[in-house]
Amino acid sequence: MINLVKEKNPMPEQDPMVRNKNFEEVATGYTEDMAVNEAMRCLQCRKKPCTTGCPVKVQIPEFIAKVAEGEFEEAYQIISTTSSLPAICGRVCPQENQCEGKCVQGVKGEPVAIGRLKRFVADWHRTHSVDEEVEQSEGNGHKVAVVGSGPAGLACAGDLIAKGYDVTVFESLHKEGGVLAYGIPEFRLPKAIVADEISALEAKGVKFVNNAVIGMSMTVDELFQDGYEAVFVGTGAGLPQFMSIPGENLLGVYSANEYLTRINLMKAYKPEYDTPIQRSKRVAVIGGGNVAMDAARCAKRMGAEEVYIVYRRSMDEIPARKEEIHHAMEEGIQFQILTNPVAIHGTEDARVIGLECVEMELGEPDASGRRRPIEKKNSNFILEVDAVIMAIGTRLNKLILDTTENLNANAKGGIGADEKTGATNHQGIFAGGDAVTGAATVILAMGAGKNAADSIDKYLKSS
Ligand code: FAD
Ligand code: SF4
Repeated sequence: MINLVKEKNPMPEQDPMVRNKNFEEVATGYTEDMAVNEAMRCLQCRKKPCTTGCPVKVQIPEFIAKVAEGEFEEAYQIISTTSSLPAICGRVCPQENQCEGKCVQGVKGEPVAIGRLKRFVADWHRTHSVDEEVEQSEGNGHKVAVVGSGPAGLACAGDLIAKGYDVTVFESLHKEGGVLAYGIPEFRLPKAIVADEISALEAKGVKFVNNAVIGMSMTVDELFQDGYEAVFVGTGAGLPQFMSIPGENLLGVYSANEYLTRINLMKAYKPEYDTPIQRSKRVAVIGGGNVAMDAARCAKRMGAEEVYIVYRRSMDEIPARKEEIHHAMEEGIQFQILTNPVAIHGTEDARVIGLECVEMELGEPDASGRRRPIEKKNSNFILEVDAVIMAIGTRLNKLILDTTENLNANAKGGIGADEKTGATNHQGIFAGGDAVTGAATVILAMGAGKNAADSIDKYLKSS
């Protein structure tokens, strides 16, 4: 039976004025009844446009049909044949541009809530699957190193261990997960879910070596000397960017990555942790992407009374996901749009007291297709703040390129690798995720890791 309702079943959420003071998850998830009801909105289209919109080609109508029948474990098994991290993707994927963007139900109403259903199924599996027998595949005797434990590295390691390789993941931080652990806040992606994924990989035999900065602790060439026959590089694009405006050296200026790492990875919001972080009253976050929304919403939860998103274009151009913007607004974040910072002012003892900005207006579209922001003459004003967080994008770290002989870069300055196979110009080295593409998405990084695992398998079988 098809449910003819045109809107998605709403997602239950914590009240905005309660959740902006805690780090618990904003969305609390569908109940079984809600999930079945939503699944019944699916038309089971024969051409599966939703699946064509999914970067890892999850069999969407098939898993939704199982949800509609109340066969949640079977739904999970269908999803997990193509997606390594469903509980994570169900929470953070930009579904509106992918599967849901192609859903036929979206033409005259709202698309089927594919992301929410995926999350429901993955969570149902996590809470109902007890003492699963862990399958350790028979080893094939070949050693592979994975550098970086973000979604690209984890997906690659997961597929390689299933194929029988002896896999070791080298991670520069003290904890695994990449952006999933240090960047995306607890209230959007509970860290217990990431930890479960890591434990599942460990149970299958993947080894993790943390605090190992490849390129410093040891080089990629030394990994080969140590007996690794192939190396996958999934080191992300986490190098912060600043604006090069006066005052960026003042106390109270953070890069979003540093601010988020202190809070998420190093738990500065928990009283029992002694991670230092400035408790600010008025915070300006510069940028309009998802990272800016995460930083602003964290600042609010850390006790700031006023938090501003300072963005130089208008709300029509702002790049963050609509859902994140909506949540940020509900939580009291103020949007200071058509505004560009020009200097940060400080006290005599070098602490931030204000952000000098100019007003902007929009001109003709630029190379990105978005209308170019132009400064209004003599429009300078000061936003009184005691902290400034830069969330204007990140760059690729060149460490691996600089320390590996004969490894080429691509035009963006990332590791030069075929985007389909992950193969680089250097024999035995494969790469994928943000380290190749620049900042992108979890699902694309995961897909790149899986593709590279296939290529490594073919390479090692043929060499
Ligand atoms: P990363 O996740 O960056 O992982 C790379 C890992 O490699 C890190 O752990 C790093 O410490 C390690 N590393 C780096 N150099 C070395 C080295 N030399 N030796 C050893 N280890 C090394 N995407 C979405 O789809 N949805 C979202 O909602 C979303 N929100 C985001 C919020 C924030 C705050 C940020 C920063 C990003 C967000 N993204 C989101 C983007 C997404 O997280 C990334 O595209 C994705 O994590 C890239 O995966 P990756 O495995 O390539 O790299
Ligand atoms: Fe169901 Fe939408 Fe996919 Fe059609 S496009 S099968 S309605 S999820």
